[in-house]
Amino acid sequence: MQLQNYTCGEWVAGAGKQSELVDAVSGELIGTTSSTGLDFGRMLAYGREVGGPPLRKMTFPERGRMLKALALYLMDRKESYYELSYRTGATKADSWVDIEGGIGNLFANASLRRVLGNMPFYVDGDAIKTSKGGTFIGHHIMVPKEGVAVHINAFNFPIWGMLEKVAVNWMAGVPAVVKPATVTSYLTEAMVKDIVASGILPEGALQLIVGSAEGLLDHVMHQDVVTFTGSASTGRMLKKHTRIVDESVPFNMEADSLNAIVLGPDATPGTEEFDLFIKEVGKEMTLKCGQRCTGARRILVPQNVLEDVQIAIGKRLGGTVIGDPRVDGVRMGALAGQTQRNEVKRALDELLKGSQIVYGSADSVDVKGADASKGAFMSPILLLNADPWKNQQSHNVEAFGPVSTLMPYTDIDDAVALTKLGKGSLCASIATYDEKVAQQFVWGAASHHGRMLILNREMAKENTGHGSPLATLVHGGPGRAGGGEEMGGKRGVMHYLQRTAIQGHPSTITAITQQYQQGARMNITKQHTFRMHFEELHVGDTVITDIHPVTLQDIEDFAHLSGDKFYAHMDANSLEGTIFTGRVAHGYFILSRAAGLFVDPPKGPVLLNYGLDECRFVKPVYPGMTIQVRFTVKEKVDQEKRTPEDVAKGIVKFLVDVFDETGETVAIATILTMVKKLDQSL
Ligand code: NAP
Repeated sequence: MQLQNYTCGEWVAGAGKQSELVDAVSGELIGTTSSTGLDFGRMLAYGREVGGPPLRKMTFPERGRMLKALALYLMDRKESYYELSYRTGATKADSWVDIEGGIGNLFANASLRRVLGNMPFYVDGDAIKTSKGGTFIGHHIMVPKEGVAVHINAFNFPIWGMLEKVAVNWMAGVPAVVKPATVTSYLTEAMVKDIVASGILPEGALQLIVGSAEGLLDHVMHQDVVTFTGSASTGRMLKKHTRIVDESVPFNMEADSLNAIVLGPDATPGTEEFDLFIKEVGKEMTLKCGQRCTGARRILVPQNVLEDVQIAIGKRLGGTVIGDPRVDGVRMGALAGQTQRNEVKRALDELLKGSQIVYGSADSVDVKGADASKGAFMSPILLLNADPWKNQQSHNVEAFGPVSTLMPYTDIDDAVALTKLGKGSLCASIATYDEKVAQQFVWGAASHHGRMLILNREMAKENTGHGSPLATLVHGGPGRAGGGEEMGGKRGVMHYLQRTAIQGHPSTITAITQQYQQGARMNITKQHTFRMHFEELHVGDTVITDIHPVTLQDIEDFAHLSGDKFYAHMDANSLEGTIFTGRVAHGYFILSRAAGLFVDPPKGPVLLNYGLDECRFVKPVYPGMTIQVRFTVKEKVDQEKRTPEDVAKGIVKFLVDVFDETGETVAIATILTMVKKLDQSL
């Protein structure tokens, strides 16, 4: 079988010399691949010209629904990916991370449609007042880049590696060209075939290169974004590419990482944290045969428990059955191929210059249900580096396989300093039930890590583990780890958006962002806004309410009803040294009374009020003053029906601007309401 590239709307087999792709377990030939003859320049132009425009036109909710539909579609086909995934040497559990973890990324990013707003672009943060008179303000918008997301991926997660990235660029409105590592590209190709066949994405949103991508970067342009996951040496070479430099193309690099896992000084043998730590180390060394970028390569333990830890880890690893991942009871499969095994052995030789093997063997391994001479099997290997300050190989050499090094530390400061010798890592963990230890470790080491996990008995059950990046949390690390950052919920989407500061009159800024800003023109509606359906309301629609004169009795009544008898409201003799010149009305009274002014009571399209986004009491209100409200539609967010029977509705945010007899604002808040649609079929 020859794998195919998906380029410019067609499936194309590469010409010329083919790379052979081999089953990691049996050594059998799976197929061949080549990208020779592909016109990379045309592919990138096709992505920009054909894939980009329809994606950019879609709103965030539309893109999110597209991602969700794709996730459901792929979930239905997951069994076929599991079958193929065994051939990469992965067990069922390893494949779950790759396949369902990858699809989970689509779901997680799809959910961002609820937080990114209703437009094709994102409005970032609050508007900024840049003038005294309020006629000149600034805001930030983030629009989709008009280029292509070029993803160059590592071999270890052929599905997750693609989906965690494309989910994000599609959510942003940017098309992708995916280049999986050749050795496991057959699994990526199988999924891309399904994605294309689904017709869920607009044409041009996804293209695939199987085989070499040498020369691809010769065609990138300033609106493109390149992400690279792989070894530091390849990453550094590509990052220096003249097109990357000359066109200022953002280059996100995720590379080698010598992640550490630390046993807290309190977590002595017999404690729950000690057991959790041993379990976690065992998992880290054997899951995916140690081929995880986040894998715990360095195991730091207090000097006095070094031997206990060594024995406990050895015991744990001893129970790991290695072999054909399809066979019952097998917990660890094979490395992705012989080349990868040779690489691990080469790195191991380097590590052995400063460490010794205390568990496992580089040369022999017992396997179940497979032929050890044909598959890329390897035993887990635990090394001991007795002097980690002297023998620095452990902090510099990554063996991308089931190899980790145990080393002693003296105190937490020493542990922090040792983790930093990794020169920047994706993640670090500590097992401790002592919050002071956790605090000291995290405060000390966070500058050198992209993610940190504190493992203890209280979170153990729900904990996702040292090595698992989550779609909602940032993945990436400084220094050696590449200095990149991806995922992290809406933070990830921002990498594919151009942030632009916009400056002008509040009316102009409101018209652009569709978020009402104070000082912008208002449209005083004939009908009360509570009488209008979602579709009938427009940003800027305003009701100016009646006036309420605030009295001392109001303050007394509100204090009695709420129980809030704070001295500033109740005791005129206690105000010396405060900003108040008399008994001041409760801020919550002002807001509550404002509701009494702006609410139009009879049953209508407004279904409910579910809270406040922000609220400030900006000027004291004393008896004798009056309050009145400008009640303005600030923003509308469409909502989808959860079930066909659901009431069709949207969220309307209203700006509640409470002002006094001088016209000055005394309180300001944004209230969140759900408003029924006229068209219930939507
Ligand atoms: P690699 O050899 O550096 O390859 C990475 C990717 O770069 C592959 O797709 C490779 O394609 C491609 N590539 C190589 N030369 C290229 C060129 N001239 N132009 C364009 N693309 C080129 O790394 P790997 O062996 O696949 O992955 C293992 C490494 O990845 C480990 O060091 C691991 O730590 C790291 N990793 C890091 C993360 C992270 O998130 N930080 C995640 C996973 C893995 P070919 O396969 O066709 O050569």
